[in-house]
Amino acid sequence: MTLTSPAAPDPLTGPAVPDPETGAAVKAADRAHVFHSWSAQEVIDPLAVAGAEGPYFWDYDGNRYLDFASSLVFTNIGYQHPTVVAAIQAQAGRLATFAPAFAVDVRSEAARLIAERTPGDLDKIFFTNGGAEAVENAIRMARLHTGRPKVLSTYRSYHGATSTAINLTGDPRRWGSDTGTAGVVHFHGPFLYRSAFYAADEAEECARALAHLEQTVALEGPATIAAVILETVPGSSGVMPPPAGYLAGVREICDRHGIVFVLDEVMAGFGRTGKWFAAEHYDVVPDLMTFAKGVNSGYVPLGGVAISPAIAATFATRPYPGGLTYSGHPLACAAAVATIQVMAEERIVEHAAHLGETVLGPGLRELAARHPSVGEVRGLGAFWALDLVRDGATREPLVPYAAAGAANAPMAAFAAACKKGGLWPFVNMNRTHIAPACNISEAEAKEGLAALDAALTVADEYVV
Ligand code: PLP
Repeated sequence: MTLTSPAAPDPLTGPAVPDPETGAAVKAADRAHVFHSWSAQEVIDPLAVAGAEGPYFWDYDGNRYLDFASSLVFTNIGYQHPTVVAAIQAQAGRLATFAPAFAVDVRSEAARLIAERTPGDLDKIFFTNGGAEAVENAIRMARLHTGRPKVLSTYRSYHGATSTAINLTGDPRRWGSDTGTAGVVHFHGPFLYRSAFYAADEAEECARALAHLEQTVALEGPATIAAVILETVPGSSGVMPPPAGYLAGVREICDRHGIVFVLDEVMAGFGRTGKWFAAEHYDVVPDLMTFAKGVNSGYVPLGGVAISPAIAATFATRPYPGGLTYSGHPLACAAAVATIQVMAEERIVEHAAHLGETVLGPGLRELAARHPSVGEVRGLGAFWALDLVRDGATREPLVPYAAAGAANAPMAAFAAACKKGGLWPFVNMNRTHIAPACNISEAEAKEGLAALDAALTVADEYVV
């Protein structure tokens, strides 16, 4: 081990204020010792973050950013909400940790508050440390419940980076880890703008996507399929709200064949779409539902699976063969209890719906009308995507699918322009996603839209 920068302030107690020298030390230690996710280690240049509050964060050089990515779409209540920070501090003082086999007050209360909000009869909660573990356990439950091996998931999806979860993932993040042996079969979900079914409208897209799933089930053999897993609103693969009737149709296909229906609400849950869970928009109740991120805005890692009575009954007298040392960690559960209370008291879910209807939706559509690089605006609540194109008529994406390096230059230039304008964007392939804190004010949302407006003029330069 080599020692680095002994002069840097204590990272636990030091001030969260701009100071370039400290920033350089933080960066140097990061480059020396931190191995980053999803990255070629020597070509990345991570920004050193000095502090964050509400929907903003800032670096050590004094640059402040309005965070339209909410970190990784998880700070639904913004950064450093004082009530949640205080709840974590109080819990650290009274019981910082305890094993999962015991009944612990904050764990019981977190489970109760979550179950109170989940759709239908999903009343039991299995806690994990994050989204991928939630997906792993949901699939394990489905396989044990049905005694069947296979799972169906869509292309253009993300379900996490652990073994089963990354194989379920439909987008290129899977490619480097795809074993081809995980018992996963991919199919096309509905996505009218880039329809796999040559559909002309939402109703046709819905009908054809359901027929395609029905056929996939028939060809794979219904008796071999344990589960169908879908993101209720596919998130990091494009924010694609499903057409009316699609999820109800999937529910019906699953019921007819004894297949477990899993909804992944890791990104869409806890207010992001303007409802506690996106499933409420579509009036559908899955058998299992995964959550993480917004459950406590990521202040302490937490995720979980909400379980139907029928699946819970499978494990009533037969042990569930799975567990995690930190399942239902008291600090994470205290953060969840405080977060859910804050979201209810401050009406943050209702606010997200209102923002989507009155500011973000209309504002983004207005940008689309003026910028030829915007091919489509999709979303709801505080969860939107701009699909950027080189050619509005052909819908050719602004950069090719899974582009890297020089081929990705237009999106890199767009992202740089956002940052120059004080906006931290979520950028994935040819899209930018708009996922600010769900309690962002209307004025802050408009500030973000103005920065997007300026950055889109850069994207427009690449339109043919
Ligand atoms: N499922 C969905 C829909 C997600 O968006 C994510 C993360 O972005 C995951 C699962 C994985 O969650 P985690 O990164 O907490 O493991």
